Amino acid sequence: MTQKYDNLIGGEWVAGGAYTPNINPSNLADVIGDYTQASAAQLDQAVQAARAAFPAWSTSGIQARADALDKIGSEILARREELGILLAREEGKTKPEGIGEATRAGNIFKFFAGECLRLAGEIVPSVRPGISVEVTREPLGVIGLITPWNFPIAIPAWKIAPALAYGNCVVFKPADLVPGCAWALAEIISRSGIPAGVFNLVMGRGSVIGDPLVNHPGVDGISFTGSQGVGGRIAQQCAANLKKVQLEMGGKNPQVILDDADLAQAVELCVQSAFFSTGQRCTASSRLIVTDGIYTKFVEAVKARMAGLKVGDALQAGIDIGPVSSLSQLEQDLSYVDIGQAEGAVLVAGGQRVTCGTEGFYMAPALLTDTTAGMRINREEVFGPVASIIRVKGYEEALAESNNTPFGLSSGIATTSLKYATHFKRHSQAGMVMVNLPTAGVDYHVPFGGRKGSSYGSREQGRYAQEFFTIVKTAYTLS
Ligand code: NAD
Repeated sequence: MTQKYDNLIGGEWVAGGAYTPNINPSNLADVIGDYTQASAAQLDQAVQAARAAFPAWSTSGIQARADALDKIGSEILARREELGILLAREEGKTKPEGIGEATRAGNIFKFFAGECLRLAGEIVPSVRPGISVEVTREPLGVIGLITPWNFPIAIPAWKIAPALAYGNCVVFKPADLVPGCAWALAEIISRSGIPAGVFNLVMGRGSVIGDPLVNHPGVDGISFTGSQGVGGRIAQQCAANLKKVQLEMGGKNPQVILDDADLAQAVELCVQSAFFSTGQRCTASSRLIVTDGIYTKFVEAVKARMAGLKVGDALQAGIDIGPVSSLSQLEQDLSYVDIGQAEGAVLVAGGQRVTCGTEGFYMAPALLTDTTAGMRINREEVFGPVASIIRVKGYEEALAESNNTPFGLSSGIATTSLKYATHFKRHSQAGMVMVNLPTAGVDYHVPFGGRKGSSYGSREQGRYAQEFFTIVKTAYTLS
């Protein structure tokens, strides 16, 4: 008998209409648990519970909030190995990657515990004598949080922690592929001392409870991370309802490698950010833009490094790359390898489904050369272990090519030239720019987000998170 897991609504664990098995992508015979599916009626109950809890929570005082967030962060950090293993088992990241993500989630709660105490306002002189002006920030209200499957504990953490820190109530809808981490996090939050109804978990499909959450009149704002297609629709719905919205979406992140780069360093950072976490990171490098002089050496060195990568069960020691998270994602990854080749790209490494002892969604990371900017493989997000190489003459062409995308999440340059590094940091059209570092891998206390089609609304994380999770009030007093 697998264990059953329920929704958290108004402080009670509530069964939904049906249970869905959570399957380990490394071993399809391994069922992590059965997770309930919330109905639209339960979604409504969760919003009502959050609304009812809001007046008291939003005025509860910052010490109570700081203490609760600190307690949540401490428990996550104390249980990071167990949570990291759960994450690896349900999402397919390797165990060290899973533990790293759980650690990040714990640190985020600790950071926002401190932020509860640091929310400052302003007193400014009035242009009218005898009047004082105060500018303060207040909680937004009830917030719907919608998250993707690829960071099943860190992304929920970086939305839930600031939402609670600034005095909001939450209805959290995780991706239906990864309810395990969401439930574990909700269980920790339920014992943190926050009142019933402040935080609610509703598990289920976007098509069933996503729309009702976004359109619910009791919800004041939506913070969404996921694909561009779903995000765009949510933005339209929020605009129609005059609701605040924040979207973090896909990427087609460029990594430029110049002739003067340290070759070994460039190869390592490209292989890491293109293929680690099975390429399933919004910040993964999927376009490697390489200048003429280093091109041949670089391609050969990447192929050699890829030959040494071990694909396998996410929980096995010594594995570099776990499985793709689902069958549909695996089919999408493989189809893009075919699409790239049909467009004229040359597959020089990997790109096939592989077997690894247990039945799982394993794929050998793929490297495509001879690609050009207009190819679909260079314009559309694959979201798997697939990287393409674009050959360019020099820095100017590399910069132009790196910006030649509808996305703008992160970008990177490998160079020993201060001149090119400085110019790239200023002129790269991305929200996050890396010099001699992978495009994936960021700190938890500074803003995260992109430009163009990758992001919409204010930034997440760090103190910039207050832009979304608070509203500004200007108060005038006649003295
Ligand atoms: P997705 O858009 O399919 O789903 C994201 C969430 O939206 C899920 O919880 C899903 O159930 C929900 N959803 C689906 N339909 C909905 C609807 N009609 N209304 C409301 N909610 C709905 O994305 P995914 O496949 O889970 O995640 C992969 C995507 O996320 C990639 O595009 C990746 O780049 C992106 N991502 C972006 C960031 C970032 O910070 N920029 C981080 C991680 C992942």
